Amino acid sequence: MKAYKIGLIPGPVYVPEFIREAWLEDYGSADIEEEFFNLYSQNQRLIQKLLNTKNKIVISSGEAMSILWASVKNTLKHDEKLLAVASGLFGEGFAWMAENAGFQSKITAFDYDDIPDPERVRDDIKKYRPKIVTAVHCETPSGTINNNLKEIGRAAHEFGALFVVDFVSSAGGCALDVDDYGIDIGLLGSQKVLSLTSSLSISSISERAWEVIKNVNYHGYEAYQYWRDVPECKYTPYTHDWQSMKALNLSLEKIIAGGIENLFKKHSDAAKLCRDLGREAGLKLFPKNENFSSPTVTAFYVPENWTWENFNLALRKKGLAVGGNYGKLEGHVFRIGHMGSQADKDLVNSGMKIIKEVLNNNG
Ligand SMILES: *Cc1c(COP(=O)(O)O)cnc(C)c1O
Repeated sequence: MKAYKIGLIPGPVYVPEFIREAWLEDYGSADIEEEFFNLYSQNQRLIQKLLNTKNKIVISSGEAMSILWASVKNTLKHDEKLLAVASGLFGEGFAWMAENAGFQSKITAFDYDDIPDPERVRDDIKKYRPKIVTAVHCETPSGTINNNLKEIGRAAHEFGALFVVDFVSSAGGCALDVDDYGIDIGLLGSQKVLSLTSSLSISSISERAWEVIKNVNYHGYEAYQYWRDVPECKYTPYTHDWQSMKALNLSLEKIIAGGIENLFKKHSDAAKLCRDLGREAGLKLFPKNENFSSPTVTAFYVPENWTWENFNLALRKKGLAVGGNYGKLEGHVFRIGHMGSQADKDLVNSGMKIIKEVLNNNG
């Protein structure tokens, strides 16, 4: 299947042609060529700019789930505790991963249409005393953005815990200050704002986190410890993906040259337009407060008198692809993805026009 006519799926997003060019090139071996390690190092520096951090950047191959698992397996020993701050599926997922990897976990839960309250999180950290506190910046299935990361990070550090944040679908789409928020391990994927295929995973790792990683001494495909001295050691734990590394470079160079602030503005403009046009079409926003709505993805209730299946079918017939949902939001809430290459007012306009037509014809 080729790309959608009008694609507003919340990741994977359209891969623009200038990025796809990376896959037209044939390269030497990423295991031995100096040029590859130089490219890796350039990308580390560009990511540090994007994330406002001096922390070491690890760029591994594999989809973002691989580093969500890495953040859990590399920081906990048998029976140690993780507190998952959750107002959605990805937040809860950290607790599930911890349990399944042989650790203990607890969830500080908030409604899916809400964002975490730092006071309540602090109380739970104080009582539970976890080694790791996890949080999610953009809960993609709920279309919410957690604006309280800094307070949560402070509470984690107050009680000596590491702060792990999934910003897979938000980094690059809005302000994110890894060092100021105290994020010890930050997790980013390639198929969201960066607009690549789902081939790379990017982690920012603080000195405190490296100490813990060294002590835990985890070995496995997702082990962070092998990456500590890449690229200086001129060795990666497996053959890297040169085409994707080049694609990442093309994407980041364009973002930095265009100005990061301008990229944030593109996202907030596209998001606002989406919310406004949705309201006009008669849709109801899912987040209970408009300020909680993410600049990268907008979640609306499935309109009354429609099942998700019929609504989706009607939109698909007119060439529009949007995102459905999972878990308890399945069938009730759908999503418009306007991140990266899709943070585009014209694209959002064409998509929302179709939604309006479909709803009017049925009204
Ligand atoms: C996309 C995404 C991931 C990666 O998950 P996939 O479903 O495998 O793409 C992780 N966390 C968040 C918040 C995401 O949006």
